[in-house]
Amino acid sequence: MAEEKREKGRAGAAGEKGKEGRRALLEARDLVKEFPLVNGRRGRQVVHAVSGVNLTIYEGETLALVGESGCGKSTLGRTLIRLIPATSGSLFFEGTEFASMKEKEFAPYRRQMQLIFQDPYASLNPRMNVRQIIAEPLTTYGMAKDKQELEEQVRELMKEVGIPTEFINRYPHQFSGGQRQRIGIARAIALRPKLIVCDEPVSALDVSIQSQVLNLLKDLQDGYQLTYLFISHDLSVVKFIADRVCVMFLGMVCEIGDTDELYENPLHPYTKFLLDAIPKADPKLRNEEKQLLTGEIPSPVNPPSGCRFHTRCPYAKEICRKEVPPCIQAGDRQVFCHFPLDGLES
Ligand code: SF4
Repeated sequence: MAEEKREKGRAGAAGEKGKEGRRALLEARDLVKEFPLVNGRRGRQVVHAVSGVNLTIYEGETLALVGESGCGKSTLGRTLIRLIPATSGSLFFEGTEFASMKEKEFAPYRRQMQLIFQDPYASLNPRMNVRQIIAEPLTTYGMAKDKQELEEQVRELMKEVGIPTEFINRYPHQFSGGQRQRIGIARAIALRPKLIVCDEPVSALDVSIQSQVLNLLKDLQDGYQLTYLFISHDLSVVKFIADRVCVMFLGMVCEIGDTDELYENPLHPYTKFLLDAIPKADPKLRNEEKQLLTGEIPSPVNPPSGCRFHTRCPYAKEICRKEVPPCIQAGDRQVFCHFPLDGLES
């Protein structure tokens, strides 16, 4: 890695190059999301949830967004597909800027970008049966010409996600957690979107059910040519499903790279800490020397200056406290650190 051509500069979606022939589906440039702090002193404080993120999601891939809870993963996922408005920055879908579009102009793009929630029970209306839940988006977007076609589409989607069609009149409380998540997935794919943000889609499920839902997501990706942004704090799940990984800390990106390469050779100190924290099945590896993260995540209301990780990083030097790290590009990898591991130079 140290021998690879190094390009230093501001991370920019326009400058981010993928593996041959991949087309950018969604790009974010200098994306910022801040929330006013309701009870903040003087009413002027803000939560810096997402700060200057540049990111490209390529067609057909699964990009995982990882980091500790509270790092801004879910907020970034929702801001990327305009479920919540960005404070500033640009968003492009297949090359067209959509963050600044009027709502009416944005409607066709909304259909292309859907969300699967962590808690399927909370996201499914308890007063609607499966038929109504899955039919709702189809009706809203006029996807069926009449009632019969609508019924056929609903039943087809139920089959796709493995819910028996004889359960079409059942309500969410009559299903298990895994089945409810399948219904949420059916609703998300009903509009034939190109991009689905999966926000911790299996973290509320038993481990035995997790793999079934992950396999379903993979099958649907192949069948429907879907692109996933997969948000998770579980690095074992991420290793199974993701092509590339984006590591976040306190609203900023630390490192982006191919999943296998990043797991094999993390270049950002924070990535290494996260990977070291994964429990090892092999007893010989359990006693390997590893550093564990200490200290609390700093407040996103008053984030540390320079590198936001500097208050927890054992390699921090003076410059880390003063200057935001540059983006170092090594092949397909991007690392935001003044002193990356493995000898890369900033
Ligand atoms: Fe650590 Fe400095 Fe790199 Fe931040 S920039 S991760 S503080 S070495």
